[in-house]
Amino acid sequence: MNVLRIAISAELTRPITLPPFAASMVRGVLGKALMHKYCACHLKVYGGHAPHCLYQLLFEGAPASAATLGCHLQTPPPPFTLKVFAQAPNLMRIEVCLFGIATQHVELWLDALMLGLSAGIGAQQVPVAIRKINFLELPIGTLPAQLTLRLQSPMLIKHQSKPLQPVQLSGEILFTALARRMALMETLYQIGAPEVNFDRLKLAARSVGLQHNCQPINWARYSNRQQQKMPLSGMMGDITLTLPADLQDLLAPPLFWGQWLHVGGKAALGQGAYELITDNTKRTAA
Ligand SMILES: [Zn+2]
Repeated sequence: MNVLRIAISAELTRPITLPPFAASMVRGVLGKALMHKYCACHLKVYGGHAPHCLYQLLFEGAPASAATLGCHLQTPPPPFTLKVFAQAPNLMRIEVCLFGIATQHVELWLDALMLGLSAGIGAQQVPVAIRKINFLELPIGTLPAQLTLRLQSPMLIKHQSKPLQPVQLSGEILFTALARRMALMETLYQIGAPEVNFDRLKLAARSVGLQHNCQPINWARYSNRQQQKMPLSGMMGDITLTLPADLQDLLAPPLFWGQWLHVGGKAALGQGAYELITDNTKRTAA
């Protein structure tokens, strides 16, 4: 598997209220630091980054390979995902997954994150110090017949080019979104995810039981590049799934991988993060 999963405990030098879904804020300071340290491109002269520019490769994703593969993406997904949780007014936990090329540059990537955070986050530029870094396991196994997918940041799935509403959620739509993301990241970054047979998966997903208590949600993030607030949307809540036992081999891998890859759109900004809750995880947490 070409994935690293890292948990980072970080301490703010002054307590502030983090914005909801602070991953995009952490991403912002990371991008600035990577640009500062690892981009020597003459952007004004060439109008873009050099193919070997580490900022480009580690932060903006793999445009060359996306073009080669004929992906019609405005911007390819970057080789990382971020989950950020406020733990106390001055503590936060950052969960990072690095994929493909980013795993080869993990030290450099973490250095840039440390540099970016120490320069300060939020409107008040509060410096953040990294206190602890732990490498986490990436367990894949079988799942119980019933489990809950708990959204940790808003999930944005486009359906017929409009944001999907919670009432439209179905097993087929959810599993197609999970598998699309898995297949795209596999193609771009060779992460070691299993190959997807979309016809078989969609068929299997139709017999998944799905109940949810999701709500649509709208908010905004501040874009440093555009110097303005950008509207964002998605849905938050729990999705309870009942998986037919004989379809586990098709349905379990996308669910496990989605915890690290996220699901749906705007994953680069931290959207579509979730954790799987089973009776087992509840027992372990207790
Ligand atoms: Zn560059």
